Amino acid sequence: MLKLFQVVVSLLIVVVATTFGEDFNEGKIKQAIKGITWYNTAAFRIAAGGKTIFIDVNKPVKKDNADIILFTHDHDDHASASGIADILTDSTVIIAPAVVLEKRNLKKYNKKMITLKPLDSIVIDGVVIRAVYAYNIKKQWHSRSDNFVGYVITADGVTYYHTGDTERIPEMQSIVCDIIMLPLGQKYTMNSVEEAADVVADVKARVAIPMHWGEHEGTAADVAKFQKLMDDKKVICIVKKAK
Ligand SMILES: [Zn+2]
Repeated sequence: MLKLFQVVVSLLIVVVATTFGEDFNEGKIKQAIKGITWYNTAAFRIAAGGKTIFIDVNKPVKKDNADIILFTHDHDDHASASGIADILTDSTVIIAPAVVLEKRNLKKYNKKMITLKPLDSIVIDGVVIRAVYAYNIKKQWHSRSDNFVGYVITADGVTYYHTGDTERIPEMQSIVCDIIMLPLGQKYTMNSVEEAADVVADVKARVAIPMHWGEHEGTAADVAKFQKLMDDKKVICIVKKAK
C-alpha cells in the first residue's frame, strides 16, 4: 500500500512538474520573442538575461548600449566597424572569429575582444554563448575550414540559435533550441526553403524567425512558403519587420 502511495505521489509530481515546466517555458519564450529586434540581413538585437546582445550588425543602428556584440563571420553584410560605433559602451565585449576582428577593423575601438571558433563556449554573467559550425556544403561562399560560426545562446532558461550563413549541416543534429533565427536561402545559404524548414525540425525549435531575406537573397514569397511549412509542423513562425 505504501509502495502504491509512493508511486502515485511520484507520478503526481512528474505531472505537476511537466505541466508547470511547459507553461513556465511558454511564458518565457513569449517574453523572449518580444526582446528580439531584427534590423536587416542577419543583424539582431536580443535583450536576454539582463544583457543587450547584438549580432551581425552591418550598418549603423539606433544609439544603444551593447553589453555583448557577436559576429558570425567577416563578410561585409554581417560585420561592420561603423555599424557598431553608436552602441559601444566602456564595458562592451566583442566576440567573433579572429578573422572578423582583423578584416573588419574592429581592433580600433580598443574594447574587450574575445575570439572563438566553432564549439568554443563563453559564459558572461550567466549568459551562455556557444559557437557552432556554419558553412556551405554545395555552395562555395562559406567553407567549413573558414571556422565561421553560428551562435547558440542560453539566457533566462531560453535557448536562441542564430545560425549565421549556413546550409543544413550534420552538426545541427546535436543542437537543440527554443528559438531559431535562420536564412531561407537560395543564393548564399540554404538550397531551398524546404531545407530551412528541415533545419527547424533538426534543432527542435518551437519558434522560427526568418532572416537574410529581402536584400541579398530570399523573397517575401519564400517567407510565405516557409510560414506555411512552419504551420504544418506546428512551429510558431515570427516574421519580424526590418527596423
Ligand atoms: Zn556570408
